[in-house]
Amino acid sequence: MLYLALTVTSAGSIERPMRRAYSTIVSASLAPVLIMGACLVLAMSPTLVPSELSGLVRYGPFLLAMFGGVIGWWFNRGRAVFVMLLLLVCYWLLVGNGAEFQPDGLAFLRIATLYLIPVNLLILGFTAERGVLNPRGIARMLILGLQIFVMLMLAGQPDVGSALYHLLDTRFFASTGILNAMPHPAMILSVLAVILLLIRYKPLETSFAAAIIAITVATVMGPGAIQYGYLAATAVVLAGLAQEAWRMAFVDDLTGLAGRRALGHAMAELGSQYTIAMLDVDHFKKFNDTYGHDVGDIVLKKVARELARVGGGGKAFRYGGEEFTVVFAGRSAEKSYEPLDALRKRIAENKITVPEKNKTVSVTISVGLSERDEDETDPWGVLKRADQKLYDAKQSGRNRISS
Ligand code: GH3
Ligand code: MG
Ligand code: MG
Repeated sequence: MLYLALTVTSAGSIERPMRRAYSTIVSASLAPVLIMGACLVLAMSPTLVPSELSGLVRYGPFLLAMFGGVIGWWFNRGRAVFVMLLLLVCYWLLVGNGAEFQPDGLAFLRIATLYLIPVNLLILGFTAERGVLNPRGIARMLILGLQIFVMLMLAGQPDVGSALYHLLDTRFFASTGILNAMPHPAMILSVLAVILLLIRYKPLETSFAAAIIAITVATVMGPGAIQYGYLAATAVVLAGLAQEAWRMAFVDDLTGLAGRRALGHAMAELGSQYTIAMLDVDHFKKFNDTYGHDVGDIVLKKVARELARVGGGGKAFRYGGEEFTVVFAGRSAEKSYEPLDALRKRIAENKITVPEKNKTVSVTISVGLSERDEDETDPWGVLKRADQKLYDAKQSGRNRISS
């Protein structure tokens, strides 16, 4: 693994990135918080649900888990399919009448769900996505099937179910209230899983954490709340899937900047005044040839990080390769020049050290700038003009802005 340290001559204020991080957290957690909040309110006051809809609440988790499983399959998200199936089986064990099991066996199966969910979600949260219908994806499904099969077999054995139930229903110390509502090991596992999954800070993993929270809270609230807990858990993973799909469509994987498709949307929303900048890393092919493509990738990430905080209300996109676009909505070219020039200087002054090569390197960028006017009212036409200006900047020596 190559290590690159970037000494940033930090001209950018700390306030902007912090505000951005804050708004990212708020927007990412909005859906889970709304879903879980609504389910919590319903669980606390079940009379809010009209009696005609009580069946929907009871069967809702089944419907959402099946729907989520199909969507997950559709998006080729094997981990989401796994979670949906797991939630489906656990919910069935909890709310089914259990007539097919011995009472002891059923008690064991029900308490085992409190372990199965955090353990499986934690493991899934830390494993790579492998899709659905391929050897690895199928192997994963078999592991889930095997867990359920073994549990059902054990639950069917006389005495074994009861012994396992007592084993799982452990309290480390005498407790009352919330602390007594769940076996202590399951509680610790759940808290640990939630913390570790939240640290991953990715949409699907965050939704796994939210699902564990929902089920833990419902368990603590008592049997009447369990359907709301599973409603929240399945809905929140579904929302996580939607969020991940959104990210795949609009966010560039390498740099984390908005991608070309997002640029198309931003262009369509522009009004009567705007400026578009096209940026290109100078001599990047040579840079790749000298230091290798992986070092090139890391440099692109560093450049993108600077671009993300360009200032002046500009929004940065990865246009493709080592080319970027910055859109200044509601701004003239004259007013957009300064933040871009500050960005250009910042990038040129950043020293990137490559310890493996025992070298310090730096990259520069060239920028072409164009604003909307009477001659050109189409955003893509303005972008094309900015691209021609970029060519001028390259021709006249690079590491400069042409407008
Ligand atoms: P110029 O100053 O004229 O822009 O020279 P240049 O070498 O940067 O121009 P050119 O467009 O010919 O080369 C772009 C190079 O960028 C080609 C390719 O090797 C590299 N590149 C494009 N996308 C990526 C990427 O995602 N990662 C890496 N490492 N390199 C990339
Ligand atoms: Mg180029
Ligand atoms: Mg280039």
